[in-house]
Amino acid sequence: MSDEKKTVTNLPAAAPAGEVLSTMREDGSRRWLRPKVSPGRFFKKRAVVAWILMAMFTITPFIKLGGKPLFLFELSTRRFIVFGTTFHADETLPLAFLMLTTFVGIFLLTALLGRVWCGWACPQTVYMEFLYRPIERFFEGKHYKSPTRHEMPRWKLVAKYVVFLLISLHLANTFLSWFVGVDKVFLWTQQSPLEHPQSFILVMATTAMIMWDFAFWREQMCTLACPYGRFQSVLLDKGSLIVGYDVDRGEPRGSKKRLASQGVEAGDCVDCKLCVTTCPTGIDIRQGLQLECIACTQCIDACDEVMDKVGTPRGLIRYTTQNTLQGTETKRIRPRVVIYPILLAIFLGGLITVLAKRTDATLDILRVRGQTPYVTLDSGEISNQVHVRITNRTDQTQTYDLRIVGDGRLDIPQFPIKVESESSAEANINVILPSGHFSQGRAPVELELFTGNDTFDSAEKTVLGPLFSGL
Ligand code: SF4
Ligand code: SF4
Repeated sequence: MSDEKKTVTNLPAAAPAGEVLSTMREDGSRRWLRPKVSPGRFFKKRAVVAWILMAMFTITPFIKLGGKPLFLFELSTRRFIVFGTTFHADETLPLAFLMLTTFVGIFLLTALLGRVWCGWACPQTVYMEFLYRPIERFFEGKHYKSPTRHEMPRWKLVAKYVVFLLISLHLANTFLSWFVGVDKVFLWTQQSPLEHPQSFILVMATTAMIMWDFAFWREQMCTLACPYGRFQSVLLDKGSLIVGYDVDRGEPRGSKKRLASQGVEAGDCVDCKLCVTTCPTGIDIRQGLQLECIACTQCIDACDEVMDKVGTPRGLIRYTTQNTLQGTETKRIRPRVVIYPILLAIFLGGLITVLAKRTDATLDILRVRGQTPYVTLDSGEISNQVHVRITNRTDQTQTYDLRIVGDGRLDIPQFPIKVESESSAEANINVILPSGHFSQGRAPVELELFTGNDTFDSAEKTVLGPLFSGL
C-alpha cells in the first residue's frame, strides 16, 4: 500500500483536482472523510432528535400493547404487528394501502421539506454522526484529522474498533428483535450457539454488516447506495426546501482586502472552507445542489459561526428553495403538493375503511384441484366439494362453524373446528344443493362463518351441477 493510501488527510478544499467523487480519487482510492463538528443551533437540535430516535429504536421492541408487541415484522410467520394490530401476509388490501400511504407520505414530505428525513432521522445519519463518529473522535482525539493518524497509539485504534463491535452487536440484536421479538433474542443470548446455529449466524452476519457500514462504508451508503438518495432529482422540485448557498450574496468569494486591492467588491463568502471541512459527505455546497447533500445542516452551522465572527448577517448558507436562490417566487400551490395530498387522502381513507371493516375471523373458499366437479346423490341433490380456509385473528383459540345462506346444506364432519390464535385451519367440505338450483350447470353459493350469535365473515363461490335439472 502506498504511503498516500495509508495516510488519512485533512479534508481538501472544494472539489480538489484528481477526485471523481467526493469520496473517491481518480486512481480509485478512497478519500476518507473526517468532518469537523460545527456545534451550532441546528446541530444541537439534531442531537436531541437523534438521541430520542436512538432511544425509541432500542425501547420500542420491549413495549407491548394488549399483550402483543407494539411493532413486530415476523417474516418467518409472515405476520406483521403494527400498533398492536396483527396483519397477515395474505391481507393484501390493508398491507397494500399501508405501503401506498407510506410511499406517498414520503413523496409529499420530500416535495415540501426536501431531504429532512436524511439529515434528521435516517438511522444511517443518526448513528453515524451521533454515535460512531463521536466515539471515533473520543479515541483519536487530536489525531482525528492529522495526516499522521496512523501513528497514533495502536491500542487506541484497537479500543475504538472493540467499542464499535460491541455497539454493532447491540444494534444487531435490537434490529433483529423488531423481526423476531425481544423474547426470542433474549433466549438466543442465553443459549449456546450450538443450540441455535442458524440464529447465531444471523446475529453475527447482521453485526458484521452494521460494523462494516459504520466503520468502513460510512457516507458512501448515502452517496452511492441509498435508493432514496438516488430518487431525489425526481422527488424534489424548485419549491422544495433545500440547504443552499446564496451565490448572489456570497460571490465573489475570498478575502475582502485582497479583492479590494484588485478593485473587486467582495461577496460575503470569505472562502474559509469551513462549510466543506464540516460536510459529512465531503461536498462543497457552494457548487450548487448536489445528490450527495443529505441536508444535515452542518454547513449552515459552520457558516453562521463565520458570519457572526466577520459581522455579517447569518444565512449565507441556509434552508431555502431553488426558486428563492434564483430570485423567482415559489408558488404555494404546485402540482405535486396538490396531487400527493389527494392520493394520500385516498389511500389513507382506504386503509381506515379496510381496518374498520376488519373482522376477528375470515373465511376463504379455495379451489380443490383434481376433484370430480360434482356428484349426484341418491336423493337427487348435487354435491360439490370445496376447500375452505378459516383464519383466527384473535389472541385466543376459537371454535368456528359454517352454514349455508339460503337453500341447501353442508356436509362438514370436522366442524365446529378449533383454530388457534392468529393461525389458519383448512378443511374440505361438501356443499349440497337441490338440483333445481342450477342454471346452465352453475349455481351461486354463499357460506357464513359464525360462532353462537356472531357472524364473522362470508364468502361466495359458484359451484357446478347438471346443465339441465333432472340429469
Ligand atoms: S463557511 Fe461560509 S464563508 Fe466559509 S467558505 Fe463556506 S460559505 Fe464561505
Ligand atoms: S452540503 Fe451541507 S447540508 Fe449538505 S451534506 Fe454537506 S454539510 Fe450537510
